[in-house]
Amino acid sequence: MRVVLLGPPGAGKGTHASRLNVNLGVPHISTGDMVREEIKAQTELGEEIKKYSDRGVLVPDEIIIRLLAKRLRKPDCQKGFILDGFPRTMQQAEALDRISRIDLAINLNVPDEIIVQRLSNRLTCRKCGAIYNRLTMKPRRANICDKCDGELYQRVDDKPEVIQERLNVYRKNTEPLIEYYRRRSLLKDVHCDDLMTPPEVTFERIKAITDSVKKEKTRA
Ligand code: ADP
Repeated sequence: MRVVLLGPPGAGKGTHASRLNVNLGVPHISTGDMVREEIKAQTELGEEIKKYSDRGVLVPDEIIIRLLAKRLRKPDCQKGFILDGFPRTMQQAEALDRISRIDLAINLNVPDEIIVQRLSNRLTCRKCGAIYNRLTMKPRRANICDKCDGELYQRVDDKPEVIQERLNVYRKNTEPLIEYYRRRSLLKDVHCDDLMTPPEVTFERIKAITDSVKKEKTRA
């Protein structure tokens, strides 16, 4: 199955995409993780990308489309993929349509005040990228990753002054994609209006949607 996850930064795309990855058996592809890996590797491209990412603005379409197209050509994407953080602009959505068919777009609908609360409390593992939250998804040991014992840190772009900028960028560039997928009857909405709703509850709703699309696909 080929799934796109839409939603503002901090909506839970990464958290749910990694669960879906186990559930659907297709790779979780996060362009945000790809960007951070490129920066960590200190490649020339990484240096270029860092300028945008640290400020919370989008990396130019041409760069990110090239990175994603390369990733989707790998053999593990043959049976499908879960895209987290791509597409983020109309130009990226059109490019994706040229590369692959999409079966489903899930829109994680989360109000701004919850986003700000969540992101300012988010912790990320330096080693494996796993995501935690000081309020809602605490690690078992303070600042240590449950999965790989890596160190947990606060991302540069999870600082309050950058969060608002990322939300502005989302509203302006990415939100229009909701209608783009809705018009083609590919969109399903999932609402999360409460900060303390455990991620398991939201994931059950997502899973119900992917199960029904899977069923339709086998019938077709
Ligand atoms: P968020 O938590 O804001 O969704 P991500 O981890 O997905 O953050 O992305 C971090 C940064 O990487 C973004 O602020 C942006 O600079 C860059 N980035 C990731 N995906 C894209 C994309 N599809 N297009 C442009 N820039 C991107």
